Amino acid sequence: MDRSARIFVAGHRGLVGSAIVRQLQARGYGNLLLRTHAELDLTDGPAVQAFFQEHKPEYVVLAAAKVGGIIANSTYPADFIRINLAIQLNVIHNAYQNGVKRLLFLGSSCIYPRLAPQPMREEHLLTGALEPTNRPYALAKISGIEMCWSYNRQYGTRYLAVMPTNLYGPGDNYHPQDSHVIPALIRKFHEAKVSDAPSVTVWGTGGPRREFLYSDDMAEACVHLLSLDEQRYEPLLGSDDTKTGRFEPPLVNIGIGSDITIRELAELVRDAVGYTGDIAFDAGKPDGSPQKLLDISRLRATGWRARTGLPEGLRLAYADAKTRLSL
Ligand code: GDP
Repeated sequence: MDRSARIFVAGHRGLVGSAIVRQLQARGYGNLLLRTHAELDLTDGPAVQAFFQEHKPEYVVLAAAKVGGIIANSTYPADFIRINLAIQLNVIHNAYQNGVKRLLFLGSSCIYPRLAPQPMREEHLLTGALEPTNRPYALAKISGIEMCWSYNRQYGTRYLAVMPTNLYGPGDNYHPQDSHVIPALIRKFHEAKVSDAPSVTVWGTGGPRREFLYSDDMAEACVHLLSLDEQRYEPLLGSDDTKTGRFEPPLVNIGIGSDITIRELAELVRDAVGYTGDIAFDAGKPDGSPQKLLDISRLRATGWRARTGLPEGLRLAYADAKTRLSL
């Protein structure tokens, strides 16, 4: 990928999008196309069409999405399916119509069946029932993967879906109800430390297992994939299963390859924040999937691995949280 390539990062203010912009800028890519939500509403078909026709991006990173934690997904299911389907439809179709060379479509590991074998491999997609708490989001994202696959098949495009495990990092959403578990816990432990509260209550039983990836590592993986030479990029685009019979979607998992329980995570966040009180669990709140761990052999085979360990990443995330929020 040429340093002067026109790269549209959709969702550049989000957790991953902002990390991708930092990563691209650090590597000398100077021709980034960035639009805030107010400047370009990606659910607005004519507006997206006009944007693509005018600016002709050569590469697209689709990191714009309606996202949220377990409670947000259960509270706004219609928003999660409508907004995500609309964004994908507009961006992917206009990418095709305007000759985009490569597109990375971002989702998350909740696209896999709730009880998929662990670690989850790319070919486990569409092999079982989804976790009901985030099914609307997951189905939208699965449709996005299918769009990439179908456009590659029908039009010869080179679109790749990348599914990260649970992400965290600078600029995360710290909403008390709607956020994901790491920002939620950073906030809870910090507030408890400041107010000298005797204990912090963590949702669920503490038993579910999750894998966590630092957002800057995710961004590095994305830029790595986007700039792979054709010989190494091509095999990631999977196969046309209508001809080969092989179920190989254009899909790459992005993770670190190991997971921990929510209880262990809570202890790590407590240490990162420097809180000394107790941890309690509220089993009345949902646990979600019992385990989400990605098989990352496909990614590893391209020569990339994550560099930030969880204690280090939590320390960085907490430092950032303190500067951004009036916590
Ligand atoms: P998930 O990976 O899609 O289930 O998304 P989340 O990040 O929202 O939740 C991960 C796990 O952390 C679930 O088992 C939650 O019950 C648990 N959890 C514990 N405390 C919290 C919290 O304060 N907020 C959130 N979002 N999850 C929590």
